This record gives sequence, structure tokens and C-alpha cells, in this order.
Amino acid sequence: MTGPGTNDPGAQLEAIAREIRDHLPCDQEPCCTCTNFVPGAGDPRAEVVIVGEAPGAKEDLSGQPFVGAAGKLLDRLLEAAGLDREEVFITNVVKARPPENRDPKVDEVRHHWPWLEAQLAIIEPRLLVPLGRHALGRFAPKELKISQVHGRVLEVPGRTLFPLYHPSAAMHSPPLRETLFDDARALGATLSALR
Ligand code: URA
Repeated sequence: MTGPGTNDPGAQLEAIAREIRDHLPCDQEPCCTCTNFVPGAGDPRAEVVIVGEAPGAKEDLSGQPFVGAAGKLLDRLLEAAGLDREEVFITNVVKARPPENRDPKVDEVRHHWPWLEAQLAIIEPRLLVPLGRHALGRFAPKELKISQVHGRVLEVPGRTLFPLYHPSAAMHSPPLRETLFDDARALGATLSALR
């Protein structure tokens, strides 16, 4: 990972985004199969970083995170938390869309993980919000289930997590959707208490 030679977090994040986009040729999926990389977007000084698993089709075409149906629901959840997109940072564990939206493989996650770590080291968020079980599993012990830990603070070494169900999981389940909105309001309350 090249060290960005500036103290400006926006410029540092931009340097990481450039590094992601410019690391081709790379013979590994999904780097060699995606249309665009999706490094992430938002406030370089965000208190909250939202982490999904990997971009989908709309994100692949636009290069922006969470711009499809799940992203629209995410915007409404942020609103319920008293936040808007511009004041958080939104990214994914894997910065390119896996073919056919399959789950990323272990070595693919390993390949992309240093970029996420570098982004988090620059932003130093108060709360890291993994969306869904896959993203949760990257930060928390595997035995913890999203159904056990959603909607509350979960301390893990070096980070404070606030896991939420993935918006895609709630799109066709009204009860889960209700839970997700309750959890988003709890996220807002937790953030207010931290300030
Ligand atoms: N789902 C994700 O996990 N990430 C995105 O960017 C879009 C959908």
C-alpha cells in the first residue's frame, strides 16, 4: 500500500481510491471482471462508516456504493438515524462486483482488505456499521450471529461496531424492515450519546 504524503484525509482517501482503480492489470476476480471499482464515498471525517460486502450491478456501472434499491433503503435508514449520506462514509469489504453477485471468496477478501483497513485508519470512525452477516463476520468473531447483535454496540478489539441487517435482506420482509428502522433509530441515539 503506497503511503499518501498528506495529512488531508480527503486527499488520503482519494489516493487510496486511485490506487484501487490503478492497480490493474490484476488477474484475480472480481478485479479483472468488474466494469468499475467502487472504492467508497462520503465524508473523510465521518463519525460513522457503513460497510457492505461487495458492490452490485448498479454500483458496478456507476462506481458509487449503494446506489441501487438497497441504497435507496439505506438512505431512508440513515434519515431515521438522523444522518445523511454526505456525513457518513459508505464502502464495502470488496471494492469490485463479484461475477453474478456471488459471495466474495476468501482470497478475494484478503486481496481487498488492506484498502478497507487503510480507509478506516484515515477516517477513524466512532462507529463502524457492518451491514449483514457477511460484513459482520469480517470484523467480529464468526460465532456471533447478526440476529444476536444487530441494533446495538458491539465492542471488538480496536473498534466499536453497530451491526445492522443488510437492507437487501429487509426489502422483501416487512418484519425485518421494521427491525431495521428500529435499529437505525437506535444508531442515531447511540451516536447522540457519544457526542
Ligand atoms: N450491497 C452491498 O453490500 N454493497 C453495495 O454497494 C450495494 C449493495
